[in-house]
Amino acid sequence: MRFTFTEEQNKFRQTVRDFLQAELKAGIFVTKSGGLAEGNNQEFSKKMAQRGWIGLTWPQKYGGQGRTYVEKAILIEELFKVQAPVAYHFLADRQIGPSIIHFGSEWQKEYFLPRFVKADENMKFCLLFSEPNAGSDLVNVATTATKEGDFYTLRGQKVWTSGGHQSDYGWLLARTKIDSSVPRHESCSQFIVDMKAPGVTVRPIINMVGCHTFNEVFLDEVKIDRKFMVGQENDAFKQIMAQMDYERAGMERLLQNYPVYEKVINYVKEMGKTRKGDPFYHWVQDSVAQLEIEFNIGRLLCYNTAWTIDMGRKPTSEAALTKAYCNQYEQRLNDLATRVLGPASQIREGSPWTLYDGEIADCYLWSPSYALQGGSVEVLKNIVALRRLELPRK
Ligand SMILES: Cc1cc2nc3c(=O)[nH]c(=O)nc-3n(C[C@H](O)[C@H](O)[C@H](O)COP(=O)(O)OP(=O)(O)OC[C@H]3O[C@@H](n4cnc5c(N)ncnc54)[C@H](O)[C@@H]3O)c2cc1C
Repeated sequence: MRFTFTEEQNKFRQTVRDFLQAELKAGIFVTKSGGLAEGNNQEFSKKMAQRGWIGLTWPQKYGGQGRTYVEKAILIEELFKVQAPVAYHFLADRQIGPSIIHFGSEWQKEYFLPRFVKADENMKFCLLFSEPNAGSDLVNVATTATKEGDFYTLRGQKVWTSGGHQSDYGWLLARTKIDSSVPRHESCSQFIVDMKAPGVTVRPIINMVGCHTFNEVFLDEVKIDRKFMVGQENDAFKQIMAQMDYERAGMERLLQNYPVYEKVINYVKEMGKTRKGDPFYHWVQDSVAQLEIEFNIGRLLCYNTAWTIDMGRKPTSEAALTKAYCNQYEQRLNDLATRVLGPASQIREGSPWTLYDGEIADCYLWSPSYALQGGSVEVLKNIVALRRLELPRK
C-alpha cells in the first residue's frame, strides 16, 4: 500500500493552486461559502476547460484527459477550499457527461461531450428527478413521457431543481410505461430536456437562507425528439444507480463550507492567546480538536472513494458511507461554529453586530439541506446497512 500522493499529483495540486490564487488576486471571485450553489460563471469554467480540467477523468476519445479520480479529487479539493465558481459546468462534469459516456447514443456523445469539455455556451444542466411525491422514493415519479411517433410528450411536475432558472438543459426522469403490472423500477426512462422548450415553466422557490437556488419545474405537453432519450427505454433506474455514485462520491460533500472551518480554527487560535485559563476555552479547544479529527476522517474517506473508482471497483457503498459522514460533519461544523463564535455569528449580513458578514449564520441555515440533497443521510445509511454489512432488510 502506497499511502501518499505521487510527485506528479503534488505538482498537479500546485498548478491548480497557482491558477486559483491568480484568479483570486485578479478579483475574478471571492472566497465565500456557497460557491457551488451560487457561483455560475461561464468565463471561469472556460478557463478551467482550457486547462483540460473539465472531463479530467473521461476517456481521451471523448475530449477528456483520461486521468485518475484521485487527481479529480485533488482538483475538487483545491477548487472548494477557495469556493471557486464552478456551478456552470459542475453537473455536466460530475455526472451528466459520465452518464452520456456510459449510456448515451453516438449522437448524444458527439453533440454534448465536446461542448461540455469546452464549457461552451448554453450547456448548463440541472437535474429533474425529485417530485412532490418522489424524493428518496424516486420510483414514485408521476411525470410521464408518452411516445408519439418520433416524439415524446412530457407531462408532470418536478421540484427542488437546483439551478433550473439558469439552465439550458434538464436531465429528466419520467415514466414511459404506464402499466401497473410492470414493476415501477422497470417503467422509467431518462431524457435531456431543453429548458426553453414550449411548455416548460420554471418557478422559483426561496429557501430559508433567502436564496433562490432551487425551483419548481412544470412540464405541460412538452414535445421532445426521441433522440433526446438517454440509454434504453424503461431502464432509467439501472442508469441512475450508476450515476448516483458519481453524484455522491466527491470531495465537494466535505468542503461546501470550508471557509467556515478555516474561520473557526483561526478564531480559536486568537482566542487561545488571551483566554488560555478560561474553562470555556478548554471546551473550545477540545471541540475544535474533535472537528479536526472529523475533517481528516472525511478527507480520507473522499480519497478512498476516488481510489476505489481508480481500482475499477463500483464505489456504491464507499460513496454512500462517505457522503453520509461528510454531510453530518458539515452540520456539526456549522453548529460548533455558532457555539464557539457566539451569538454574533448567528446574525445575518447587514447588521453592524454580525461576524464575517453573516457567512456563519447563512451556512448554519443551509446545513439541514446537506443531509437531504443527493440522497438523505438515512437513505445512505440504508445502503451501508444492506450493501456493505449485508444486514437483512427492515
Ligand atoms: C439543497 C437541495 C438541492 C436539491 N437539488 C435537487 C435537484 O437539483 N434536483 C432534484 O431532482 N432534486 C433535488 N433535491 C431534492 C433531493 O434529492 C430530495 O430532497 C431528497 O431526495 C429527499 O427527498 P424528499 O425531500 O422528498 O424527502 P423524503 O424522501 O420525503 O424524506 C423525508 C425524510 O424521510 C426520511 N426517509 C425517507 N425514506 C426513508 C427510508 N427508506 N428509510 C429511512 N428514512 C427515510 C429521509 O431521510 C428524510 O429525512 C435537492 C434538495 C435539496 C435540499
